[in-house]
Amino acid sequence: MSKKVVLLPGDGIGVEVVREAEKIIAWLSDHYNLDIQTETHLAGGASLDTHDVPIRDEVIKACREADAVLLGAVGGPKWDDYPADKRPEKALLRLRKELGLYNNLRPVMVFSSLKDASPLRPEIVDGVDLLVVRELTGGLYFGQPKGVTEENGEEVGVDTMRYSVSEIERIAEAAFKAARGRNKKVTSVDKANILASSQLWRKTVSRIAEKYPDIRLEHMLVDNCAMQLIRDPAQFDVILTENMFGDILSDEAAMLTGSIGMLPSASLGDGTGMYEPVHGSAPDIAGQDIANPLATIASVALLFRYSLDHEEAATDIETAISKVLNAGFNCRDMSRHARDVLSTSEMGDKILATMAALK
Ligand code: NAD
Repeated sequence: MSKKVVLLPGDGIGVEVVREAEKIIAWLSDHYNLDIQTETHLAGGASLDTHDVPIRDEVIKACREADAVLLGAVGGPKWDDYPADKRPEKALLRLRKELGLYNNLRPVMVFSSLKDASPLRPEIVDGVDLLVVRELTGGLYFGQPKGVTEENGEEVGVDTMRYSVSEIERIAEAAFKAARGRNKKVTSVDKANILASSQLWRKTVSRIAEKYPDIRLEHMLVDNCAMQLIRDPAQFDVILTENMFGDILSDEAAMLTGSIGMLPSASLGDGTGMYEPVHGSAPDIAGQDIANPLATIASVALLFRYSLDHEEAATDIETAISKVLNAGFNCRDMSRHARDVLSTSEMGDKILATMAALK
């Protein structure tokens, strides 16, 4: 049966890394007889330049009707001074909201050949293989009231941290299910000593845990978790947390690997899933064919796993990435830890050749 994947390359290196991902999708479509159709649309700054909006309604509709969306990155200095409703990242926020993407998964794995790339000592990051499950459509980033108003002659900024039981339940279920396919441990991160929303979070997660007796649950305060990620990151399996804590902790966890150019993510809801590298549009290196496409290629693996239900293709991509890294190849951002430094397009070709050799 034919499947549709919408590609949103976005801005800067987004265009270059999605080009490599597209090659991989086309190759897998041919070699697994999958009939995957891709269609490409503008998003972010590229859409602002052409259509004067960060993302068009037609594009949102195409995404909704697709089986999966692969996004590169949006933004760049050209659009930094645009008003709030015309900022490139509005495209992302709108996609998350309209596709109902409440479940953000960020796997963080330290490849044995890249232990030295971490800013932490190799013996501390050895064996790190964790998954951050971040709630993506609630909490401080969306809660109302929100905005800057005037009170007693001065400006006051307000954001609201709000969570309902049903919002907590569905993300907790996702984390416990993910843990079942992993090392069967969930660390739920909150600030229950201070925040009411966290007290409800903790109570609800504990109740959901009763349905998963095979999974070990621990609760951890967010400040302690930030510390533990540096002190002993290998203790974690699945980290379950709300939107803003997850935003911060997943960037911290990402840095355990020493490279932002290699980390994938998946955002899931009840309909179309969206996949994207963790990094941004990297305007400083855009257009030079030196960006590392591995985060986007690893995001394609997640796309095959979660949206196309094709574990074999996902595993093939991940095995190829691991083999290429262990053979000493990498891109310029990881050049200190590579024997051979490849361009963006050479890395895409190397992954393809390695996948072909697996067959
Ligand atoms: P960034 O992730 O784009 O870049 C940070 C640093 O990492 C830069 O030095 C860059 O060259 C390097 N880098 C990032 N990805 C790389 C890759 N694949 N290969 C090699 N090096 C890589 O973050 P930033 O500089 O803070 O932001 C740049 C723009 O991207 C901003 O407009 C920001 O708003 C936007 N941004 C978008 C997203 C997204 O679309 N999801 C996420 C973060 C930032």
